[in-house]
Amino acid sequence: MNRVRILPLNAALGPLDYAVPGDMRLEPGTVVVAPLGPRHLTGIVWEAERLLADAVPDERLRPIAEVVPVPPLRAPLRRLIEWTADYYCASLASVARMALASGGALKGPSTTTEYRLSGKQPDRMTPQRAQAMERLDSEQATIRELAAKAGVSEGVLRGLVGQEVIEPVEVDLHRPFPRARPDHDVPELSADQQEASDTIASAVMARRYAPFLLDGVTGSGKTETYFEPLAAALKEGRQVLVLLPEIALTEAFLRRFEARFGVPPVLWHSSLKSTERRRAWRAIATPPGEGGAQVVVGARSALFLPYADLGLIVVDEAHEVSFKQDDGVRYNARDVAVMRAHFEEIPVVLASATPALESLHMAASGTYTKLDLESRFGEAQLPSIDLIDLTEERPEAGHWLAPRLVAEMEERLAKGEQSLLFLNRRGFAPLTLCRNCGFRFQCPNCTAWLVEHRLSQRLACHHCGHETTPPANCPECGEPDCLVACGPGVERIADEVAERLPDARVALVTSDTLSSPGKASAFIEQVDAGAVDVIVGTQLVTKGFHFPELTLVGVVDADLGLEGGDLRAAERTYQQVAQVAGRAGRGEKPGLVLIQTRHPEAPVIAALAEGDRDAFYEAETEARRSAGAPPFGRWAAIIVSSEDEREARDAAFAIGGTRPDLDDIAIFGPAPAPMALLRGRYRYRLLLNARRTANVQAVIRDWLGKLDLPRSVRVGIDIDPYSF
Ligand code: ADP
Ligand code: ZN
Repeated sequence: MNRVRILPLNAALGPLDYAVPGDMRLEPGTVVVAPLGPRHLTGIVWEAERLLADAVPDERLRPIAEVVPVPPLRAPLRRLIEWTADYYCASLASVARMALASGGALKGPSTTTEYRLSGKQPDRMTPQRAQAMERLDSEQATIRELAAKAGVSEGVLRGLVGQEVIEPVEVDLHRPFPRARPDHDVPELSADQQEASDTIASAVMARRYAPFLLDGVTGSGKTETYFEPLAAALKEGRQVLVLLPEIALTEAFLRRFEARFGVPPVLWHSSLKSTERRRAWRAIATPPGEGGAQVVVGARSALFLPYADLGLIVVDEAHEVSFKQDDGVRYNARDVAVMRAHFEEIPVVLASATPALESLHMAASGTYTKLDLESRFGEAQLPSIDLIDLTEERPEAGHWLAPRLVAEMEERLAKGEQSLLFLNRRGFAPLTLCRNCGFRFQCPNCTAWLVEHRLSQRLACHHCGHETTPPANCPECGEPDCLVACGPGVERIADEVAERLPDARVALVTSDTLSSPGKASAFIEQVDAGAVDVIVGTQLVTKGFHFPELTLVGVVDADLGLEGGDLRAAERTYQQVAQVAGRAGRGEKPGLVLIQTRHPEAPVIAALAEGDRDAFYEAETEARRSAGAPPFGRWAAIIVSSEDEREARDAAFAIGGTRPDLDDIAIFGPAPAPMALLRGRYRYRLLLNARRTANVQAVIRDWLGKLDLPRSVRVGIDIDPYSF
């Protein structure tokens, strides 16, 4: 009898064997539905020898019920799923689910129904109906999505469908995306750009695995450089994936893409509507020659999709922290991208002006090919950088901008040029306390202060989303008028700008204000039109933007990132400040960057001031070497959590008590994690510091596999953690 081994998409199940009905053809990667008890499961046909399950005798096997009509997952993707599960100590099912967009991609029919307002009025207006009609506007989506958007129940909307106030619209999921035109508007490249571009393009044509580190200073034109090999892949009839770190910021990228290729790319990110997601998934699984997707621009989850014929991967701003996923499957998209390119046998480009030390190390050892763009494109020069020592040049009491920074901003305003102030803190103030009794507002679910958001009049936790309205009186001592905001967030800096430069038009840029593509677009247009004098923003403003009239960048607090005890703190500070500095002087006018600091002598700050990247990386390399940190050694974290503090601690100590004794791996802890309480769960942590050659995953699997812990305890494994 013909039998197959199925990988169920439900992680709680192991691999299972089934019989293949005589008329069914099942190649590996085929998605199937099979019986399980009285129900059915969805799974993927996997090569038998790779999954270890007990053989069931033939006569007890049940037959596969049906084949799901989607293309089978190709071998390179199956290898990637196996590698990712293995390397990050995750279940195969949890990784495979990402390839199938959590199963949502599998729903059968090729059309689906969405709904939108028809223009008719309801018989009777209720507050809920009024709210729905106001919030839905021209929105078109499923009833469930519309209900979420409108903040009313699905029942309210169904009632409106009954009255034809909301009308159904048939959506064709197989409707093709517009075809990109590789030669739509080809730019003239500089000699450096041309050389880098040709090198990548020839790897595209040769169809071989080739990892590149495209290391170009800010404003050097990295995007134009990788657009040409992208065009080459399109001409070959193949697909291209471009990973971007912050989907809120794709707007600027999309404009440039459309200018170059005549049409927008296919987007993939977590806030796609379900029909958009299904349409994109289908297109991605279809070869471009048959009307499939050509270029996909996506967040990290786009990495696991079943591309029909991938020819090139680009990871733009490859140093970005947001490529690291911190829950579920804890993977680093930058590294997984390289592995996918390896399995697909195609080139991959990591583009950055401030590459991670690990990436530079790979280039230095010859594993990656480094392509350099050493100067800005055209006439633009790199900005000059100066430090403001806050211990000497003090801002006035209750203020955060030093006189010199304010003076430079005034000068820009008088000349009609733009300034940008960077502070990586959302909201008005990071801490609110009672002047009378010392009470501090803390999140009930997390080890974190509540951040005051004055614009929305909320106190909010940035970790779990908990929110309250700020009370008039202190909740502890009951005194009125005793609550004070401590420290600045960007909202407070914007207020200070308004006070110092009353005539300036200020734009606040944070994930609160730039929450949709429409708002991002509007912001870009305003700045381009000269309708903004001062931009105040969080890390969102550090990347991707190209504003020619922006000639001054002020870093409000360069020390902020250095305060945490995290191993990559220096590198991250360097990257953030260098990136935001890179927004200055990108046009014809020279740029100036002023960095406010209390530690001008700190090596990372000094390197920034000198513009000496090599000095910074050399110092950082030595620090990492002596700490056994990446790329010289490896870290892994085991995070044990429970809603019950005692249970979390007991479990952590039970794990700690069975630690293996090894020469090549040092194990620290358990200790309360830096966020000892997160989203209502108490967290303990063990840290492993391994030599490069140690098989840390095998050690962890073997160690944790022997333990029997309560079901309410969660054990997370973080390989190559970013923060701990
Ligand atoms: P980076 O991403 O390296 O910081 P960008 O790709 O944003 O730099 O390029 C900086 C600016 O120079 C952009 O406005 C871009 O359109 C322009 N540019 C770069 N290369 C070219 C080129 N070959 N022809 C015309 N404009 C270019
Ligand atoms: Zn919280």
